[in-house]
Amino acid sequence: MCLSPLSKTMPAPALALFDIDGTLLRRAGRHHKLALIDSVRQATGCVASLDEIPTQGMLDCDLLRLLLAQTGLPVPEIEAKLPQLIEAAQESYLSGSPDDLRSSVCPGVVSLLDELARHGIATGLVTGNLSAIGWRKMELAGLRAHFTFGAFAEHGETRAVLAAIAIREARRKAVVSESSRISLIGDHPNDIRAARANGIQAIATATGLSTREELLAEGPDILVGDLTELAPAQLL
Ligand SMILES: [Mg+2]
Repeated sequence: MCLSPLSKTMPAPALALFDIDGTLLRRAGRHHKLALIDSVRQATGCVASLDEIPTQGMLDCDLLRLLLAQTGLPVPEIEAKLPQLIEAAQESYLSGSPDDLRSSVCPGVVSLLDELARHGIATGLVTGNLSAIGWRKMELAGLRAHFTFGAFAEHGETRAVLAAIAIREARRKAVVSESSRISLIGDHPNDIRAARANGIQAIATATGLSTREELLAEGPDILVGDLTELAPAQLL
């Protein structure tokens, strides 16, 4: 069990922002997808499908828009229904979530989070998951105690905006100072682009569906095969 950096009075020397799917967890998406589809069924009576949609690297709100578009609704009605679906998808996941996600934790995650805590490095989430879904996944994976804040799908239109929100929140809470080094760790080109857009270190891990070549093409500062290869010193 780590101590939260928020409990300290001094700002942390560094902040590590983590994506969830493909980065902290993998193969944890089935119930999540079912919840998104169920929310569309509740709102429209239509059965939509994610089978033809590459979900990795995307925000849940955009997936809900794509699912709603399959029902034939015009764009203004899709946007009007979105808040209702955001609520319904989260309720659906919470009522039908898997029993345990500890076996879905990616290699090296637990030891890295423990090491970051030992080094006083703060941690946060930047994820395309809706907030209730993301937090429940962290609970089910046994990782909840490592995180006190994050930015989630319903908080912004793009992953870069979510990263900016998380950084602002960390500074507002004095988790970090203006001079603390900040890194975004993710498995998709969109994570690397979000880091670039915010001028922070981009760390790519090839534990998701993106290949090493696809990640390298985005020019991350660091690329690892999995998080066993990442050391706290690389974040300082
Ligand atoms: Mg991901």
